[in-house]
Amino acid sequence: MTGLLLTNVRPLGGESVDVLIADGRIARMGAGLDAPEGVSVEDGAGALLLPGLVEAHVHLDKNVLGLPWRSNSAGPTIRQTIDNERRLRTELGMDPARQSARLAALCVANGSTHIRSHIDVDTTHGLAGVEGVLATKEAFRDAVEIQTVAFPQSGLLTRPGTLELMAAALEMGVDVVGGIDPCTIEFDPKGHVDAVFGLAQKFGRPVDIHLHEPNELGLFSMTLIAERTRALGMAGKVAIGHAFALGMPDGAAVEAMLEVLAASGVAVMTTGPAGHPAPPVKRLRAAGVDVCAGSDNIRDLWSPYGNGDMLDRARLVGMRNGLSTDEDLRLAFDLCSFAGAKMMGLSGYGLAVGDVGDGVLVEAGSVAEAVVLAPVRKLVVKRGRVVARDGRPTA
Ligand SMILES: [Zn+2]
Repeated sequence: MTGLLLTNVRPLGGESVDVLIADGRIARMGAGLDAPEGVSVEDGAGALLLPGLVEAHVHLDKNVLGLPWRSNSAGPTIRQTIDNERRLRTELGMDPARQSARLAALCVANGSTHIRSHIDVDTTHGLAGVEGVLATKEAFRDAVEIQTVAFPQSGLLTRPGTLELMAAALEMGVDVVGGIDPCTIEFDPKGHVDAVFGLAQKFGRPVDIHLHEPNELGLFSMTLIAERTRALGMAGKVAIGHAFALGMPDGAAVEAMLEVLAASGVAVMTTGPAGHPAPPVKRLRAAGVDVCAGSDNIRDLWSPYGNGDMLDRARLVGMRNGLSTDEDLRLAFDLCSFAGAKMMGLSGYGLAVGDVGDGVLVEAGSVAEAVVLAPVRKLVVKRGRVVARDGRPTA
């Protein structure tokens, strides 16, 4: 038998137990378990055991990790940021395979066992990003599972040829169809939704759309997305990233939109942004909307910030949403773990017998304390294999 016995660990802050992972799954949990032959043992020394963290929205393909410091020259508009980035990626000679491997290694060190990465698909760089991230996905397959999204960052309809590249990316095995601001980037909301959901239907894939549009315009795009999701029977297979419009001051309009999102089964991803209106996560939860969290841009031409640490992300989302009780902080953690897993459609995620044998050990008394302190990851386990120790990848 191959596997791992974790002794004296406290799953989600509960009583101390031993956890036996065999053949990639949690086989037994209890006191005083013996290690079968061939199974290695790790002494948890009373550490908190968390499920593998879930990075539900990141851009692995385009960071500057390991490169000389790059002064941020983005903006001020999203369109200017997009065009600036597309030009600089050529000038800087950014290699998507190398850069995505660097960021994936950082995510593993910080305890992410699942990642959903958007990948730019455009008529300047073609499918170079897709090829690079797919290479990283394969190279890291024993350490982290990477879902990929074909993302028309520069526009889908506004840049002829992009739709064909998106289809080619899906034919190469990309998992999800991405989209972006149907009104403010595409100037053709119905056309954009037709194109994105058309690809999703043709290839049988989920949808994940970046939506930065503010206020009523954002709510309008959300309504289109929700209506199309309902009409095509895609509940549970569609996510909207950012959804800044849900942070607008008009409480009644937001409340009505939350009902529509909940009824149509459209999930929302937030980073807990400091510089934008943000979806109020407790209200989304109360309304029955699936909400999860992601890092989005890490150390790239959009943002100089980010560290690939989903416990730190839980802390940021908590601060942005005024979460302070232990119950609130467990919600912040849930957004970076169980809720992300649900949005990504993962099966066997969790810390029960029969679940996939992923987990993270940290020195903390409770989940709430882990969110506040974001302590170094003592151990990261992927399907019963140690993939990071003391904050560093093992391979
Ligand atoms: Zn993004």
